[in-house]
Amino acid sequence: MPELPEAETIARQLRSEIIGAQIDRVQVRHPRSIRRRGAENENPNPGFASRRARFARALRGRRITGVGRRGKAVLLTLDDADTLVVRLGMSGQILVRPTGTPREKAARVILGLGERELRFVDPRTFGQMAVRRGTGPDAFPDFWEYGPEPLSPKFTPAYLAAALRGRRTRIGVALMDQHLVAGIGKIYADEICFRAGLRPTRLAGRLTRPMLQRLWRAARQVLREAIRCCGTTDADGAYLDAFGQAGRFRTRLRVYRRTGQPCRVCGTPIRRTRLSGGRGMHWCPVCQR
Ligand SMILES: [Zn+2]
Repeated sequence: MPELPEAETIARQLRSEIIGAQIDRVQVRHPRSIRRRGAENENPNPGFASRRARFARALRGRRITGVGRRGKAVLLTLDDADTLVVRLGMSGQILVRPTGTPREKAARVILGLGERELRFVDPRTFGQMAVRRGTGPDAFPDFWEYGPEPLSPKFTPAYLAAALRGRRTRIGVALMDQHLVAGIGKIYADEICFRAGLRPTRLAGRLTRPMLQRLWRAARQVLREAIRCCGTTDADGAYLDAFGQAGRFRTRLRVYRRTGQPCRVCGTPIRRTRLSGGRGMHWCPVCQR
């Protein structure tokens, strides 16, 4: 599933490619891709025709003036001060392709940009595109409750200490709480705990000051490194960047989905522990304490 480094990679690539481009065609090929927020379990079909028409009307003729990101979401700013919010979900990709090239089977939304098109490809359809009034992430209620961006100056060891104080959740789970810090999911929660030398099962509210410092530093290091590698493309190949290339961080993963394989530092087989909610965390019983 795309997390902060993957969304950031896509946002940076789009910024260099499509700023100034005008949307001349809009095609929606799957109702779930433009469903209302919070309507995940509803039958997406009623009203699809009118929602599709409204979505197309809001985008056609618009110019893309900026590309941003908040957490795992990519934000395309439009010239009428609206924003196209793109949530990548489990398997979403945003590809820039020449118009006329064969379309991906799971292309759900296509935005024509003259000789190129932006394709929202999403085999599992947990992703979503929505046009919102306003610009900048703070304009949308969706993001009001988000925690700070982990690479921003707001994310400090002191913030982390305050946010985790008294928490009875495990650190592996706490790191994925978007209200605590935005953009971290399964892959990077595992990797951050490893780099910090902390077991993901430790209680978040009981970390010592040096542990908090290590966790904070590890989060920033891992995310920065993953962005430099253009993200992680797992064995399932779900994530691709805007040019259709795989991310290279996979070869640097220390623990994520390496159950039974030797730790890259000490050789001990990597373990997988199931936490509440059925969520499995990968970790090294020797390197992580
Ligand atoms: Zn180890």
